[in-house]
Amino acid sequence: MEEKKEKKHVCTICGKQSEATICHACEEKIRGEALEKKKDVEKAGRTDTGRR
Ligand SMILES: [Zn+2]
Repeated sequence: MEEKKEKKHVCTICGKQSEATICHACEEKIRGEALEKKKDVEKAGRTDTGRR
């Protein structure tokens, strides 16, 4: 039916039209979440290294 839709680029996160796989808004959001995750990992890593 509307297989042409696949040709249209949409954000995989919010599904909105975007020339990139992930639109700018979601990209920034993910970047922020990743940063927070990194903080968490670093925190956990610190306690882990404390064992050594
Ligand atoms: Zn998006």
